[in-house]
This record gives sequence, C-alpha cells and structure tokens, in this order.
Amino acid sequence: MINTSRSLLASTVLMLLASASAMAQDSTLITNARVIDGTGSPAQSVAVRISGAKITAVGNLQPLAKETVIDAKGLVLAPGFIDSHSHHDRGIFEHRDTPEVVSQGITTIVVGQDGGSELPLGDFFGKLKATPASVNVASYVGHNSLRDKVMGEDSKRVASAAEVQKMVQLLQRDLGAGALGLSTGLEYEPSSYSAADEVIALAKTSASVGGRYISHMRSEDVRLDAAIDELVNIGAQTCMPVQISHFKLAIRNRWGDAPEVLKKLDAARARGIDVTADVYPYEYWQSTLRVLFPERNFKDRKYAEFVLKEVAAPEDLIMSAFEPEPSYVGKHIGEIAALRKTDPATTLMSMIAEADGKQEMVIGKSMSEPDIAALIAWKHTNISSDGGLGDLHPRGAGAFPRVLRQQVREKKTITLQQAIHKMSGLTAEHMGIKDRGTIRVGAAADLVLLNPDTVADRATLEDPSQLSVGIEQVWVNGQTVWRGGKTTTAYPGTLIKRDAGAKPFTCSRASR
Ligand SMILES: [Zn+2]
Repeated sequence: MINTSRSLLASTVLMLLASASAMAQDSTLITNARVIDGTGSPAQSVAVRISGAKITAVGNLQPLAKETVIDAKGLVLAPGFIDSHSHHDRGIFEHRDTPEVVSQGITTIVVGQDGGSELPLGDFFGKLKATPASVNVASYVGHNSLRDKVMGEDSKRVASAAEVQKMVQLLQRDLGAGALGLSTGLEYEPSSYSAADEVIALAKTSASVGGRYISHMRSEDVRLDAAIDELVNIGAQTCMPVQISHFKLAIRNRWGDAPEVLKKLDAARARGIDVTADVYPYEYWQSTLRVLFPERNFKDRKYAEFVLKEVAAPEDLIMSAFEPEPSYVGKHIGEIAALRKTDPATTLMSMIAEADGKQEMVIGKSMSEPDIAALIAWKHTNISSDGGLGDLHPRGAGAFPRVLRQQVREKKTITLQQAIHKMSGLTAEHMGIKDRGTIRVGAAADLVLLNPDTVADRATLEDPSQLSVGIEQVWVNGQTVWRGGKTTTAYPGTLIKRDAGAKPFTCSRASR
C-alpha cells in the first residue's frame, strides 16, 4: 500500500513537472519593465508572465526552465490599447497585419461606428473567424445600415412604425451575433431624417440585452447643445451607458466652451446617466462637405457664407477625395475657388452639387487645441482614432502615439498612467469588454511595450501614412504582432463579443 501510494505520488509529481515544463515552453516572462496596468495606477517594477493567450502571473517572478525571457530594459509595459471608434476594418482582409493599428499599440478595434456596420454582422464575424487579422475586432450595429436595409432608396424621411419594427428585428439578430450595442451617425443621411423616437426604440432594444449606445451626434457645431440633450435623453430613457463619439466643439463661436459643456455632462452623470465620450487628438476632422449643412440647404448662399466664416475657413477645408475632379485632392476650397475663378461660397455649393452620389471627402480644421485638451482630460473620456487603413487623415496611423507625445510629454495635460488608462482600462469599461484593458492575472495577453521618451506620431496631413515610432513590441492574445518597427506574420486577433454575462439595462429605480 505504502509503495503504491508512493509511486502514485511520484508519478503525480512527474506529471506536474512535465506540465510545468510544457507550460514554460509556451510561456514568456517580461522582466525589467515599468508596468502601468491600465487602471490609472502609477508604474510598478514587476514582471509579467504570458502563457498561451493569457497573463498568468504578475509580480516578483523568477524565470521557469525553458521559458522565454524578454528584458524590457526599463521600458513601459501597458495593456494593449483599445480603439473605441475605428474604421480600420475597411480593407482588413487585404491588410491583415494592420500596420497602422499595431504600430500605435492598438490591439483591439471597435468598428461599426457612425451608424455604419456590416449587415448581417454574423457574416462579417464568420469571415473574421476564418481569416483573422493581427488585432481583435468588436463591432456595434449601425443605425444607418439598418435604415438602408429596411427603407432602401426611400429613406430621406421619418420611418413608419412598421419600418422601425423591422429595424428592431434586424438589430436583435445582430445583437444576438455578439454586437456591443447600437451606433448612430445622426449627422449623416439618411439617419439625419430619423425622429428621436425611432432612435429611442432601437436604443431600448440594445439596452434590453445589455448592449450599449454610441453616437456620432446629430450636430458637432451649430446644434451641439441639442445633440447632447438628445444623447443624454437616450441615456435617461433607457438607463444604458451612452457614449459621445469623437467629441468636439467644431465651430468657432463655441471655442473655449469645453469646460461649460463638460459641466453639463457632469450634471447628467450626477443624475445617474452614464454618459461618456471618446476623443481623437486633432484640430481637424474628416467627413463629407454635406455635414456642413445640417438643414441640407446646400444651395443657400447665406448659409454657405456662414459656414466658411464660423465652421471652417476656405483655407481650412482641404479635399481628401473628390471623384468628379481628382486634381482637387490636397487643395483647399480657397485654392479651388481661385482655379474656378469664383468665390469660395459658390465653389462649396457647386462642389456639393457636382459630387452628388460620388465619392467626396474633406478634412476640415474647426476645433481648438485648448478644447481638445480639456475634452481629453475629462475623467470619462477615452481615446479613439476614428481612423482607417490607408487613411488620408493622419489619425489613422497616429492618434494614440500623438496623445502620448503631445498631451503627456509636451503639454502635460494628463499623466502617462492617465493616458494609458484612457487607452485601455477605461475604454474596456466604456465598451463593456471584461477580460481586456488591464494587466492582471487571467486577462488576455494583449500588451504593448513602449518608450515614453520617444513615442510619437509621424503621420501628417501631407504624409498621413507615416507610421508612429516608440512602440517597441505589441502582443495580441500572447503572440507578437509588432516588433522592431515591423509587423510579424501572426494573426492572433479574435472576435470580441458582448459579454455573455451582460445584464439588461433597465430603469428599475424610480423617476429619472
Ligand atoms: Zn463619426
């Protein structure tokens, strides 16, 4: 008996040793790093062990036999960044190594933004599962996409009750596929024609399964206050978290008002409404010329003159695409007006008419740097890029390192640990992503090793595809996707679906 149990014990020990050594072969220990864990806490000198796709130990650790050891040489190790407003999915199957993304330290992109998503989402998810990319992907369901599907061409109007019901059903299907929630792009046609009730009906559908609401609001300039009121009201009606996408004050007569606008949001939060925001760190946006005319009064000369005076001056509206006359790309409205031997207002109105139905994009400079800094510093703001692969706006390749260079190192608007929190842990909270965003045992091994003294964006308006520097190594689900200034050939990205344990958001408490 004694012998038997001894041999049992011996074989158990052998088995344990064998599994430890197998584990060690599949494990990596990162030592000598200043670990900033994404919770907002300052750096700690601890080691981090990755085994497979997970973080398995954090602390004062000794290497296991056969373990790969990476000496971080005093660099900062942070959770992989989560981009809460990304368009980097366009073209992702042709560029699965996503250099613009991983070179920024981004390991998860949240797509389906501005009311536009792949429908049915399950098909897109299936394709990603079969052909994964270097980064993780999560998606919202887009209101405009639902509207297009249900209303077709006849969508420049309020939807009927039956049409809203059809949109609700399509939304339920895609929430069932794992979408994080509903996204709207109410400044864009055709959802700009939607009534508030339509949006609330869809938002309630999302809330009923623990989904969220994220919005490119109805206005970012002339009607900013009303747009914020609409978003806050959706939060009040549904009791779900509501997020303002790429928050900005894009009109000159509101420059400097960021503190006042934030006060209003803080008041809403004090009433129990979970309103949050994301911001990209540039004074210029990229969209269509049409968004400059919220009333769709594209032929109203007085309004065109107002736009060029208050929203963006002719020299601050630079075309990044114009299908009817590609030679306009890179030129501003003032230059184009001179070429056409006419005034900027006429040029603006004519170009919208000429581009009808064709591709047209403009980069517009209409935000102020102090407002951007104030919005970024707000406790409930996370960082996003709003960028895409091959983007003509530098945000696609530079947004996150730009915050680390400009707002942390140069302007000292926020500390490094605050910035990292706003790029990882806080973002995960805002998106409802449970197992990522902080460095802790059991979390997914999405990590970024960066040099806080050199990290910088290189993308500019003139050369928007220049990749960032100072992001030394990036891991997604335990595999290296970026090292030595290059992408690897690993595609460990996974689908991030809405947390299975997400509880419905309901207004159980009394009046709100
Ligand atoms: Zn947008």
